[in-house]
Amino acid sequence: MPPPPTLKIVEVFASIQGEGLRQGEPTIFIRLTGCDLRCSFCDTKYAWTGGRTADVPRILERVRSLRKRFPSAWACLTGGEPFLQDIAPLVRGLKKDGLKVQVETNGRTFRPLTADWLTVSPKPPRYACRPQLIKRAREVKLVVSRTLTLGTIARVRREFPRTAPLLLQPESNAAWSRAKARRLLDRAVRAGLENMRYSLQLHKILGLR
Ligand code: SF4
Repeated sequence: MPPPPTLKIVEVFASIQGEGLRQGEPTIFIRLTGCDLRCSFCDTKYAWTGGRTADVPRILERVRSLRKRFPSAWACLTGGEPFLQDIAPLVRGLKKDGLKVQVETNGRTFRPLTADWLTVSPKPPRYACRPQLIKRAREVKLVVSRTLTLGTIARVRREFPRTAPLLLQPESNAAWSRAKARRLLDRAVRAGLENMRYSLQLHKILGLR
């Protein structure tokens, strides 16, 4: 029998989804190691390297155990950048266990899989995104960094389908970024950009992971 597929992961934990349209929903998070970007504002730098190699059945076992205490309907694969590894077997296993699966990605890599919810968060400097992800995104998230401009927001808004909300997420909920996000949202709406949202990180407000 072939050995089970493995993944490099940093942590598996139960919490509340703090970001995006799924905000507030109980969720089991699986954080994968590695990212192809090095954003200055990254709040999960500890996931760039390190972690441990775990086989998929063991990860699924850990998720089942967490759900006994925290019965979540959702699992979220995050990072780092989940698409840098072959996450398809894990997604299949989670769905077989009855979970809905969200994947959070920076948009630069794509692998076909049957996720229920794709969150695409293009990043500087190019804010580039694979076409397969552009058409599948359920939501688009832009971190309101020091360098984010209305021009970039407009370009990203034009690239993605209008039905996918575009969320402006202040960098680490910082006061300067909250104010900048508010100004950018006003300008974006006045410029006619549709389906725009303002989105704070709830887990940070609540002191959760
Ligand atoms: S893409 Fe995401 S995980 Fe990667 S460095 Fe940027 S913020 Fe961090």
